[in-house]
Amino acid sequence: MSVPVITIPTDKLVQFGLHIADTIHYQLPPDELVRHCLRRGEGVLNDTGALVIRTGEFTGRSPKDRYIVKDEITADAVHWNDFNQPIDQIYFDKILSRITAWLNHLPEIFVRDCYVCADPRHRLNIRVINENASTNLFAYNMFLRPTDKQLEHFQPDWHILSAPGLRLDAAQSGTRQHNAVVISFRHRLILLAGTGYTGETKKAIFTILNFLLPREKNVLSMHCSANKGPKGDTAIFFGLSGTGKTTLSADPGRRLIGDDEHGWTSDNIFNFEGGCYAKCINLQEDKEPEIYHAIRPGALVENVKFFQGTDQINFEDGSITENTRVSYPLTYISNALEPSVGPIPKNIFFLTCDAYGVLPPISRLTPGQAMYQFISGYTAKVAGTETGITEPKPTFSACFGAPFLPLHPGRYAELLGKKIKEQGVKVWMVNTGWSGGPYLKGSRIRLSYTRAMITAALEGALDNVDYETHPVFGMAMPATCPGVPAAILHPRSTWPDPSAYDEMAGHLADWFISNFEKYGKGVSEEILAAAPKK
Ligand code: ATP
Ligand code: MN
Repeated sequence: MSVPVITIPTDKLVQFGLHIADTIHYQLPPDELVRHCLRRGEGVLNDTGALVIRTGEFTGRSPKDRYIVKDEITADAVHWNDFNQPIDQIYFDKILSRITAWLNHLPEIFVRDCYVCADPRHRLNIRVINENASTNLFAYNMFLRPTDKQLEHFQPDWHILSAPGLRLDAAQSGTRQHNAVVISFRHRLILLAGTGYTGETKKAIFTILNFLLPREKNVLSMHCSANKGPKGDTAIFFGLSGTGKTTLSADPGRRLIGDDEHGWTSDNIFNFEGGCYAKCINLQEDKEPEIYHAIRPGALVENVKFFQGTDQINFEDGSITENTRVSYPLTYISNALEPSVGPIPKNIFFLTCDAYGVLPPISRLTPGQAMYQFISGYTAKVAGTETGITEPKPTFSACFGAPFLPLHPGRYAELLGKKIKEQGVKVWMVNTGWSGGPYLKGSRIRLSYTRAMITAALEGALDNVDYETHPVFGMAMPATCPGVPAAILHPRSTWPDPSAYDEMAGHLADWFISNFEKYGKGVSEEILAAAPKK
């Protein structure tokens, strides 16, 4: 058997003005990349052999510094807003030449070929060019990994140039400040400058897929996790950051399809990525065993601290950021499905972390309510403890992913609505947030209860129980659920003072209603009828 020779793909690199005389580390396996990281001082190993790094100034995405080049492809197609900010071609050219100059002055760079979309009909090849070895490892972990055979004829569709060490001159670059993520659909190029937060890489790719798939392939792209049950039924879990997509999709009783980004075609759903990017804050072995055990050689852990004088991670320490993370290939989850493709979903869960303790821990939605909730995209953000802010903040993010959606939210909502109706999909809303009162007064719903409620819904155990309609929000709340005390199923009865509950429910209803005003004209009567009743 002949072993294919992997050659460094210099032709395209030269096109961007990159010199290739210096050292290019191409397609290194993870163990070699880790050695380079250690040599370069990018990180250290913990006691279980994972690489632990700090991402520097940025420990989260910076949505205000994300731009899309306004050109003949995007001008009329992109829904320009606070997340989809236009930037002129002239500035793109300037930033590109700054990045290539920056990469050219480095003694070494890391190049990797990978792809996204597990369904071969929608596969997109990506070449990642990194200043850092650890960001290259992130690409290995998170994207799909071509075989040696596939590399022989690999043609990149898109390129990512990543230069975390470069500080842009904002005035000259047409940017807000020294860091930026710039996407050009015409050049099929993503520029990352001044930020070392690895998550920018994955969410930039997600953004381009959210543009290309619905427009060119009639595929609904979704910010959701997905898994498949022993009977072959698929479930998907939509939700904003911190609502439980990654945690709840890692279910020992079901095969993991993917933890964050999926496409829904006419005959299947498929994962865009090849890895998981899980939160580590307060990670406990008994509560989230799959994620805990994925922290091993090859995994990349970000912004955690060790117990003093040891190489043991203190998962409770959020002093660098509450957004501590680990990336690892999907294969690190023992029951991950390969390839990451599943049948059309039978159940959809909308996850919300309601810090006001108003929404029921699980409820069933009609198609109209489902569309209303999808377009609203509600969750609440609880401020990090270190800032001293004690009030939660309501967040509405259309389609549970507005920062990543270049098209008008109506495009995605219409596709989802059609699919829910045509396929008769059951839609559930799950509050993974507070019960018994708001943040600081009540408490977060136990993860074991949330898991039990989801299992019950998936196994049909909620199909023939009594339901009560929520008086304000209208969703159907089951009166009983196996494995869960009935007393927690109706949120009002968990509050010590039910009239305080009613008052809070009224506030939340007001926020929903005023957020929805901007969509009012464009949606059907059926959807409008699902608005909260005051
Ligand atoms: P992102 O889009 O940022 O990746 P995500 O939706 O994947 O976010 P998770 O990483 O799953 O969110 O985060 C959920 C967090 O909330 C985890 O740290 C989990 O341990 C914690 N948690 C606590 N209680 C619950 C609950 N009842 N249900 C789900 N998660 C819970
Ligand atoms: Mn996640």
